[in-house]
Amino acid sequence: MTQKTVSFCFDDGFLSSTEKTARLFETRGLRASFCIMAAPDQSADTAHIGARFAEWPLWRDLHRRGHDIAPHGWAHERLDTLTHDAACASIERMFARFAAELPGFAAERAIFHTPYLSMPPPLVDWLLARSAAVRIAQGSAGITSQAIAQGSRQIDCITFGPDKVAAQADARIEDFRDADGDWLVLVLHGVDGEGWGSLALPELAGLVDRCCDLGFGIRPLIDILVEPSPSE
Ligand SMILES: [Zn+2]
Repeated sequence: MTQKTVSFCFDDGFLSSTEKTARLFETRGLRASFCIMAAPDQSADTAHIGARFAEWPLWRDLHRRGHDIAPHGWAHERLDTLTHDAACASIERMFARFAAELPGFAAERAIFHTPYLSMPPPLVDWLLARSAAVRIAQGSAGITSQAIAQGSRQIDCITFGPDKVAAQADARIEDFRDADGDWLVLVLHGVDGEGWGSLALPELAGLVDRCCDLGFGIRPLIDILVEPSPSE
């Protein structure tokens, strides 16, 4: 049986949160998925305006340190408000920036982490032809099956906010313990007040440690969808 696994995604790429989160994972020998915009300064989201975002040198460094650095839009556009052509153009522009900035990046091997977790079905189809997989809300509140996701290449997830983020995430981890699914995909944002749906760093540490105590594996999405370990 496949080990029950939790994937932690940290969306939007806030600078201070990214540094703290990466350290938290590394001190435990773990890796995270950081889902980032190509042009965060152009985002119109109120949680982004005026925020400090990590820049490419840090993303390259984190990639070298084993973390998953994944695309999350050019500037966090609501893809279901754009025309299909405009959405495709924005995503292509984002892939080009990733390829220019992140050594080894290839759209064909990337998982696209959908801003606001929603986009029209034709755009999902287009992305599945263009990339390895799409993370998008699918109604299972983040608990899914690794085998099903490997087949569909669409990854369900859950996010929490703006308040009581740690308590809600902790409750979902407890649900996962007895659930049929073998994969929980949690989407978090900043820590210590950064971004929408922030939680305190010790709260994040508590969630990670609880998953370890319950015997869950903690792995970035890319390990399950794109680069399965040789033993599996
Ligand atoms: Zn986001």
